[in-house]
Amino acid sequence: MTPSPEDLIKRIEGISKKDSDLIKEAYDFAWGVHKNTTRYSGEPYFNHVFETAKTIADFGMSPKTVIAGLLHDVIEDEGVLGEDIKNRFGEEVLFLVNGVTKLGKIRFRGAERHVGSLQKLFLATSQDIRVLIIKLADRLHNMKTLEHVPEEKRKRIAMETMEVYAPIAHRLGMGRIKGELQDLAFPYINPVDYEKVKKLAEPKRMEKNKSLSKIHKALSIELKNEKIHNVLTDYRLKHLYSIYEKLQRKDFDIDQIYDISALRVIVPTVSDCYRVLGIIHSLWRPLPGRIKDYIAVPKPNGYQSIHTTIFTGDGEIAEIQIRTHDMHDVAEFGIASHVSYKDKNAKRQGIKLPWNLNFNKYIGRKVEDKKLDVPDWVREIASIQEENPEIEEFYSNLKTDFFKDRIFVFTPGGDVVDLPVDSSPIDFAYRIHTDIGNHIFGVKVNSKLVSLDIRLQNGDIVEILTKEKNHPSRKWLEYARTVFAKRQIRNYLQKDKNNSK
Ligand code: MN
Repeated sequence: MTPSPEDLIKRIEGISKKDSDLIKEAYDFAWGVHKNTTRYSGEPYFNHVFETAKTIADFGMSPKTVIAGLLHDVIEDEGVLGEDIKNRFGEEVLFLVNGVTKLGKIRFRGAERHVGSLQKLFLATSQDIRVLIIKLADRLHNMKTLEHVPEEKRKRIAMETMEVYAPIAHRLGMGRIKGELQDLAFPYINPVDYEKVKKLAEPKRMEKNKSLSKIHKALSIELKNEKIHNVLTDYRLKHLYSIYEKLQRKDFDIDQIYDISALRVIVPTVSDCYRVLGIIHSLWRPLPGRIKDYIAVPKPNGYQSIHTTIFTGDGEIAEIQIRTHDMHDVAEFGIASHVSYKDKNAKRQGIKLPWNLNFNKYIGRKVEDKKLDVPDWVREIASIQEENPEIEEFYSNLKTDFFKDRIFVFTPGGDVVDLPVDSSPIDFAYRIHTDIGNHIFGVKVNSKLVSLDIRLQNGDIVEILTKEKNHPSRKWLEYARTVFAKRQIRNYLQKDKNNSK
């Protein structure tokens, strides 16, 4: 079946006549430009940009963003001039297309081109988060068609997906695409374990679904009795790669993974969520210590839900997840649901953007409106490369500071700060502001004075005490873990040396 522009237009809620005409024009333009190019699979190149645009539309993005999806490869692969895009589709579309365009093949090669292009991507993203969203949609389709790519390239692309793009999706709260990217990369990176996990998980899942459907029936009746309306329920199947990660922590014992499938209950309001939890616990006995309230305390990437695990009464154990419709959107689409077109004027109930508790009030800094949707860490990545464009350091930085496992700790005021695992109070201080870092005098963790070299734990409340006359010492370089804090300390020591000359 040949794709048609209607397939895109119907996905965009409330689109105007003018915008749908512009989509048709972009469709024809992209078709014309790519018409003599094919993919490794032999299918028309156009299919790739069309699928990318479709994903972007499904994320709920604006018509301009969908157009940029259609045009995302016309500069890089077909040599269309930026000027031409600007004249036809405007400056906004050109900016987005330029943002995802790789560095020129002629001047840059190999690793330098890949990492350099990544730097360029983050620079553009720090001005407009939609650049990264387009890139993820592009990568998703490339991963779906990876089997056709020459073997020697496959593994590199799969690795990059696992090391860079899936963690980005995760940090942006885009749960659905993160899971898909990991599951698509998994068999290319580790085919043996992939098969092993699949064999373990599939029969278990069938079994689980049977007992979930019994619970589902009983619960539906009770929710009706209790007059909770507008309820959506579905089964959440845990992604294979995420099962694999858990299996590694549980000695490959599949029986210890209770959430291989889970029942999901989606209701209108936050108070409905707690009522549903009460109803569930009065019907089935919960497993002690396994009730997680991510509504009151969201995950660092913005995820909100209540999870509980119950004894089903027939020897089984099952997980149930409860959330509002808005929370569900955010859990699936993350940041995309905040910059979404259809919800431009909608106010989301009870949803807070954790990534922009960015201490602006604390340090009196003003951020342009447009940049408010850009998480701090994206801006931080962009600023690293402005200071130090060394290519290898940039890539390892990205992996250690930004994409490793994270903990979240609190300021005394209750704001959440997320940091890489093993961070010290020094990393925390610099994360809040360089001025705080440069004047650390002492630190209290959970109200107790502790030394500067401790490793912070998930959930710690951290208070930094400062004194004007206190300054970084060489020793701090050993205590700090993030490249960011180390660089600030080095900067300070260097300046200090110069001043005393
Ligand atoms: Mn592409």
